[in-house]
Amino acid sequence: MSASHSANTIQTASTNEHYPHLFEPLDLGFTTLKNRMVMGSMHTGLEDRFYNYGKLAAYFAERAKGGVAMMITGGISPNREGWLLPAGGTMNTKADVINHQRVTRAVHKHDSKIIMQILHSGRYGYHPFAVSSSPIKSPISPFKPRKMSIKNIEQTVKDYARSAKLAKQAGYDGVEIMGSEGYLLNQFLSSHVNKRKDIYGGDIHGRMKFAVDVVKAVREATGEDFIILFRLSVIDLVKDGNVMDEVITVAKALEEAGVTIMNTGIGWHEARVPTIVTSVPRAAFVDFTAEIKKHISIPMMAANRINMPETAEEIVATGQADMIQMARPFLADAHWVNKAKNGQTDRINTCIACNQACLDHTFENKRSTCLVNPQACYETELVYKKTKKPKKVAVIGGGVAGMSAAHVAALRGHDVTLFEAKDVLGGQFNYAKVIPGKEEFFETIRYYINELEHLGVEIKLNTKVDKDMLEKAKFHHVIVATGVVPRSLEGKLEGAELPQVMSYAELLSGEKAVGNTVAVIGAGGIGFDVSEYLTANHGKSLDEIGPEGLKDPSYRPEPQSISEWREEWGVTNDTDYQSDGGLVRPKSIKPIRQVYLMQRSKGRLGSGLNKTSGWVHRAHIKSHGVIQVAGVQYDKITNEGIWVTNPQGQSQLLRVDSVVVCAGQESVVELMPNVGDAPNAQYHLIGGAKLAAELDAKRAIRDGAEVAAQI
Ligand code: NAP
Ligand code: SF4
Repeated sequence: MSASHSANTIQTASTNEHYPHLFEPLDLGFTTLKNRMVMGSMHTGLEDRFYNYGKLAAYFAERAKGGVAMMITGGISPNREGWLLPAGGTMNTKADVINHQRVTRAVHKHDSKIIMQILHSGRYGYHPFAVSSSPIKSPISPFKPRKMSIKNIEQTVKDYARSAKLAKQAGYDGVEIMGSEGYLLNQFLSSHVNKRKDIYGGDIHGRMKFAVDVVKAVREATGEDFIILFRLSVIDLVKDGNVMDEVITVAKALEEAGVTIMNTGIGWHEARVPTIVTSVPRAAFVDFTAEIKKHISIPMMAANRINMPETAEEIVATGQADMIQMARPFLADAHWVNKAKNGQTDRINTCIACNQACLDHTFENKRSTCLVNPQACYETELVYKKTKKPKKVAVIGGGVAGMSAAHVAALRGHDVTLFEAKDVLGGQFNYAKVIPGKEEFFETIRYYINELEHLGVEIKLNTKVDKDMLEKAKFHHVIVATGVVPRSLEGKLEGAELPQVMSYAELLSGEKAVGNTVAVIGAGGIGFDVSEYLTANHGKSLDEIGPEGLKDPSYRPEPQSISEWREEWGVTNDTDYQSDGGLVRPKSIKPIRQVYLMQRSKGRLGSGLNKTSGWVHRAHIKSHGVIQVAGVQYDKITNEGIWVTNPQGQSQLLRVDSVVVCAGQESVVELMPNVGDAPNAQYHLIGGAKLAAELDAKRAIRDGAEVAAQI
């Protein structure tokens, strides 16, 4: 390794009083990173079209302003075969260089660095030109890849080098070579796909040749003063994946070939182990990164489910990694780093790892944004301009729609009062936060409460307003965010009024308790959540959390331990793992209750759940013994249980102690003026109150922000 690539990776501490290790600069020999925080690569959807590069530049510039040391772009393919989707972003021509310069210039104005990721999708490509090490179709693309010839591989190495050289011309500080998550280079590195017998196959030395050749060619094309990151799969989590010794061999060879910083990749996209959803405990894979770090001398970056500064600081302070890569947390809060630096951790808008507005959008071919921050990727369109004419604004309802509206209105300088009928803010998020594996939802409530207080919003809890009161108070604007109530089956289903029947809200607020056998009516997102709550044998019960814990915004629920979570999902706890890809047999689970989850419609339960997280929920209820019943008719509830007619037309009694109704919601709109009324204020209807049918936190928060941005 040349001297210019060597870096100071000794763990020293800066003078930052809050997170001294995170704010220690990192000297790379030829350049210095101002702190240890890096924004990881995310496909936003803006990089694929040249006319969106202005928006892309604004998106990166905002995060550069927020203090991050370095950012990595979404994946740019080195050639047509490597496209993820047809006509994806490229770096092949002079025109590409000019487009990308808009991004690099915008970032450099704010003293941050930007790295272009070169991603060849291999058999994950969603197009007929897809190629791979061996012609084995992936479970996530309908296109069978063509086996790459040796000539084809050699040309692709040159394509990587050409893209990297052009990236340097475009002003990038470096490139990241994507070698993990099951993309092309990973398809060569591991015998999960690589069945070749030639010089690019066989043992790990053959399988890593392609990746090593790429790094050497990129280094040669770009010179010594250019950052090369390599995203290495430290645990494949697929059958026939690499063992730790092989991963270490690859890491050492890549260092020797000229990599400046080694980044962490976890699991292939086709792995049946969740790696980034909210139920994955924070920093769940850091020990695998730490294991690699022991064997190389270049800086090593930790990644996956790191979203708050305490976790990040601990990783760097304990020497498990030199740097921290977070991706989605920078969608949620562009100013994460500066807030941590200034000790404003409680004002960080935390990524709750829901995937709903980022990764799910990518799979739907939509522009990414963020559920808790609708400005993400819309920096030039959703602008919170300071008002020149402050108005008196009432927001009715302290759920996420109302809190979002109050936040943006106050940020713009309006005089805001938020009314909430209950004694706690958070609305439906108060139910979500007690579901085991959804502990992160506490953070959103904490964030809004702190922001509203900081901005001087007057919060009136335990205050049920009426139309008269609103009119007398002479508000200029009234934002009605009164949300929803759970749909009741009383009067629609015999026995629905019995004491053992309850709504999900009554269950999850601790108002009512269930017995050992439970029927859940309705298998939407909430029916699944409730089934998980009822069967999970970790996490605190509502009794343990207690009413004060439920209301306290500084309270953090205890998530599942990393080792327990791994046992449940069949991931090794041994960092020196010799099992294929780090997979082991999952522990069999003893659910704490017997639950029946039911829906009237035929077909698979949970088919409407989100693309990137739905499978995790379906796997959870399966492993926790939930009996899934589709196509039933509910006949009546009695003290014996619930009578249903099954799809074969037979009447059946399910003997259960309790029934939880998760049958959707109805909007609460009584405060909206009636037709013919002439109110003094302008009224706006947002969130679940506007449309319960598709009750959705993403829409609620965006609704609130959009309305408040316009008044
Ligand atoms: P939902 O997804 O609309 O599901 C409601 C369920 O109730 C359906 O399974 C429906 O199925 C059943 N149902 C509707 N009317 C009924 C009636 N009169 N009698 C009996 N059953 C009835 O609503 P949700 O579960 O309350 O979730 C609301 C929203 O919250 C979701 O759209 C989602 O955006 C969000 N959410 C998502 C997640 C997640 O993805 N994990 C978790 C929580 C919440 P049948 O008509 O087939 O019986
Ligand atoms: Fe995080 Fe959800 Fe926002 Fe994605 S949408 S960045 S997962 S909070």
